[in-house]
Amino acid sequence: MGHVEYSVSDGVAVLAFQLPPVNSLSHALRIELIAAIERAIADEAAAALVLIGANGTFCAGADIKEFSGSGMWREPHILDVMAVLDDSPKPVVAAVEGVALGGGLELAMACHYRVVHAGAKLGLPEVKLGIIPGAGGTQRLPRLLGVEGALNVMLSGEPLPATLFAKSPLIDRLVETDLRVAAVAFAAEVVAARRADASKPLPRARDRKVREPNLEALLQFARNSVRAAFKEYPAPLAIIDAVQAAARLPFDAGMAEERRLFEPLMASPVSKALRHIFFAERAAQRVDGLPSKTPVREVKSVAIIGGGTMGAGIAVNFLNAGIPTFMLEVAQEALDRGVGRVRDVYLGQVKKGRMDQAKAESRMALLKPTLAYADIGGADLVIEAVFEDMGVKEKVFRQLDATMKPGAILATNTSTLDVDRIAAFTQRPQDVVGLHFFSPANVMKLLEVVRGAKTAPEVLATAMALAKAIRKTAVVSGVCDGFIGNRMINQYFAQSLQMLDEGASPQEIDAAIEGFGFAMGPFRMSDLAGNDISYHIRQRQYAEGKLKARAVIADKLVEMGRNGQKSGAGWYDYRPGDRNAHPSPVVEKLVADERAAAGTATRRIPKEEIVDRLVYSLVNEGARILEERIAQRASDIDLVYLTGYGFPVWRGGPMQYADSVGLYEVARRIRKLASNPRDIPGFWTPAPLLARLAAEGGSFNGGAA
Ligand code: NAD
Repeated sequence: MGHVEYSVSDGVAVLAFQLPPVNSLSHALRIELIAAIERAIADEAAAALVLIGANGTFCAGADIKEFSGSGMWREPHILDVMAVLDDSPKPVVAAVEGVALGGGLELAMACHYRVVHAGAKLGLPEVKLGIIPGAGGTQRLPRLLGVEGALNVMLSGEPLPATLFAKSPLIDRLVETDLRVAAVAFAAEVVAARRADASKPLPRARDRKVREPNLEALLQFARNSVRAAFKEYPAPLAIIDAVQAAARLPFDAGMAEERRLFEPLMASPVSKALRHIFFAERAAQRVDGLPSKTPVREVKSVAIIGGGTMGAGIAVNFLNAGIPTFMLEVAQEALDRGVGRVRDVYLGQVKKGRMDQAKAESRMALLKPTLAYADIGGADLVIEAVFEDMGVKEKVFRQLDATMKPGAILATNTSTLDVDRIAAFTQRPQDVVGLHFFSPANVMKLLEVVRGAKTAPEVLATAMALAKAIRKTAVVSGVCDGFIGNRMINQYFAQSLQMLDEGASPQEIDAAIEGFGFAMGPFRMSDLAGNDISYHIRQRQYAEGKLKARAVIADKLVEMGRNGQKSGAGWYDYRPGDRNAHPSPVVEKLVADERAAAGTATRRIPKEEIVDRLVYSLVNEGARILEERIAQRASDIDLVYLTGYGFPVWRGGPMQYADSVGLYEVARRIRKLASNPRDIPGFWTPAPLLARLAAEGGSFNGGAA
């Protein structure tokens, strides 16, 4: 006991429940709710019931931790709570403030009345976890809101302002005053009215009829729309089927249909992937070795060194968060270009109607361009985004060390260079951290927070908090060449180029992996990022002896000036004003000539093999990264790929995908790939962690079996 507080005022029993933080309907809370409802029904001092959250919110739904086990259907389950409400001879009022989401809204709909605070948010977000509402939501919402309204709520999954529903039977009274007082007063009014006319049955959503004259057309339209928009996701279609059942069948038959549709979705790989992501996002915020109360430094002003592609994009993030931001460049011309890049972002937003002119101007006003280090010395955080060259980075960091106030955080946006070496250019390596943004930095969600050997806990904690403030998904990475994301993508690109040598064309390779669900194949992606970027990284890696084989075709491509979209030609041809990639006869000839010069036979590589080689190159390197503790957990790697590299969301990320295939099978296929004599020598040696988990029947995200 202890989750539900029972009291009676003005002849109304008030059941104030709480299970912080969001009152999820756990097994323990369900037991207590039933007991308290039964107590109120038996209580002669109470003529009505009010269900209210004791902590400023109603309920955010089922306890998602119970999803993976059998907890959710452990009796009493939420349907049992509703059955007790259905049988109540006394009126039950749900008093809703904060949020009523998922099972929380379903519970409120199972009450006779709903008194809702105007600031509350209501929603059925199940679709975001790959399932449908499973406690009557699909049957009660259409009865209270109509077919179209119910579909909008359930297909979007968004928490919506209660005021949107003020005129529907979903809300009996919308209030702006103290909710508890208002709900008790409402309940007392109901009791008084019923005294006058006791024969009237209590209103129940289940007894209402769905009235929709255009039902068939509406459902058909909805089905067509979700088939186009959510091809890989089965839940939206199931929601439409369930709403159809609500409109056509009696309530209990509709409930049976809801259950029939719910069960297979819960067990589907898509729902497992989406739930995995839900937990991955929360887990990523926990940093090994960082006590939860680690102090955070205040960041009230930021300085960006370099106003290039990345510097400008990074600046936009802070301007959007209302943080004054310096941009420092080497020369006036470069500075003007940098400011122009930031302005272009805002002009674009105004043009698209996403921002009004005044707002754009107020953000631009926070940008402080400068050529002098003296101006930025007082900034709390500085992010270096100059050329990817250790010599240039050294100059900048020595200068920052000399200029910045004590306690300032010194961050580098390097993609591949050693953050520990960069930190060693300063007398304060504890204040140095990597903040690896992705391009375009104002759009991409991912931020790799690179933890140097000496980075102070406070600096890391500040970086994580800052990521939240600028709405990024932060993932902590250790120091290595490429960190988590680029180290893995290097293997993927190596395989892409290898398959090109063996006989596949860029368009075949791109099409195969796009068919798997990637937003963009490796060649289109490289054209977008700029082929010169990977070229320069390769030159450094050749010099350091880190690359065994030369990427002859890729190098020649750049030497021909085919840098990608920005130069109008790369692996593909691009036409002015058209971002579509067109197969290029020039590239075709380049590839054919190089293959002929190498004198090796080529073959058509089947689609499935292309996908295996690309995806398992990520998985195998991911396993190494995990074993070396560069990544703290497999789900962090998944998040990196979902938010930074366009990995298909419905597959849950590379490590989750490997888990869903089964690691034994993954290891078996990797060994099979190793038998191709044309492939890069040693490439397909299974990572030791993968080999071990495969042998034990374990998984990346679940550990050993
Ligand atoms: P860029 O060439 O577009 O911009 C670099 C800018 O730095 C130029 O405007 C240059 O004038 C300025 N600069 C050079 N030396 C300077 C100095 N000493 N002081 C002040 N300014 C100086 O390069 P970019 O693509 O923006 O990359 C910047 C950094 O971000 C690199 O370390 C790169 O590896 C990293 N990065 C790039 C990407 C990407 O996709 N482009 C993604 C993540 C990280």
